[in-house]
Amino acid sequence: MTAPFRQICFAAMAGDDIRAESSSGGAFTILARNILARGGAVCGAAFDEEFRCRYEVVRDESSLARLRGSKYVRAALPRKFLADVHAVLESGAPVLFSGTPCHVAAARRMFAAHADSLFTVDLICAGCPDQGLFDRYLEENWGSGNVAKYEFRSKARGWRHHHYLLHVVLKDGREIWRERGEDEFMTAMSTGLGVSAGCFKCPFCTMDRPGDITIGDFWMVPEEMDDGKGTSALLLNTAKGAALFDAVRRDFVKVSEYPPSILEQSQARLRSPRNVPPGRWAFWRVLDESAATVRTAADRALAGGAS
Ligand SMILES: Cc1cc2nc3c(=O)[nH]c(=O)nc-3n(C[C@H](O)[C@H](O)[C@H](O)COP(=O)(O)OP(=O)(O)OC[C@H]3O[C@@H](n4cnc5c(N)ncnc54)[C@H](O)[C@@H]3O)c2cc1C
Ligand code: SF4
Repeated sequence: MTAPFRQICFAAMAGDDIRAESSSGGAFTILARNILARGGAVCGAAFDEEFRCRYEVVRDESSLARLRGSKYVRAALPRKFLADVHAVLESGAPVLFSGTPCHVAAARRMFAAHADSLFTVDLICAGCPDQGLFDRYLEENWGSGNVAKYEFRSKARGWRHHHYLLHVVLKDGREIWRERGEDEFMTAMSTGLGVSAGCFKCPFCTMDRPGDITIGDFWMVPEEMDDGKGTSALLLNTAKGAALFDAVRRDFVKVSEYPPSILEQSQARLRSPRNVPPGRWAFWRVLDESAATVRTAADRALAGGAS
């Protein structure tokens, strides 16, 4: 009988060029490039032209840019996307699926027949708002169709715990920079007021992960691994994940192993889901009263019980 795999934890930094475009230490890009080099496909969340967040399949390096960077909006899993993933797996090519743990768990179930060719990477996840809230925010703040580029976490002022710098470029050329507390949507996301109801009962806020590899920000990483430009945390959860990491380890500029317990201590979302914040019910009631907003049935149920 083979011994169960023992989870391994690394801090890692990609090169400065990759990290400048990535939210953390660029681990996603390093892993994705390996799968593309094998003739495979990479699945992750991207914005379309109307800033709707959805999963996409990418087959080349230039398209990878669309998947980079955290988007704090629940990504859709369109039917065509699922069919495209299925077609790649049927062809025998490997697929890297990288996204929120709930979607990684769903992908593993849907593509179980091709488990050997499916590599899964889940994010440490504090939850995200639904598309309806983001649509309304975009419309009220910038006017629909006026946004050219939207970055939730620019690193123009560095990477550090609790620092989220919003960068919006409008089609008329204007650039807007806002710290987290200066922006309605980032405030709604970071306080939990705007996060989807299901995230408060998320079964994936634990060290028991659905993906072969887990990636996130290595907040409070020991000083030797923090240069202020972004450090990724990686948990290798399976032998397959460990083999993928071994294949790319040299592509990182700096890597260091730590006990998984260090990450568990610094990452609340590896221990339990977030609490429903006080005032969430009032937040949604005010939104409902001022205009119709898209909400799930679960949101309504929880909001009713959370006052
Ligand atoms: C909603 C959300 C909540 C998060 N919460 C935490 C947290 O509490 N603690 C923590 O340490 N890290 C959290 N992260 C992860 C972190 O922000 C980075 O995404 C992660 O470390 C990967 O960074 P990177 O530098 O390797 O690559 P990047 O290029 O920055 O990330 C790209 C990866 O993010 C995925 N992604 C981006 N937006 C979404 C989305 N909306 N849905 C699904 N996948 C998406 C892409 O598919 C791709 O796999 C969260 C990410 C998201 C999207
Ligand atoms: S917190 Fe859980 S349910 Fe919410 S998006 Fe993240 S993995 Fe999915």
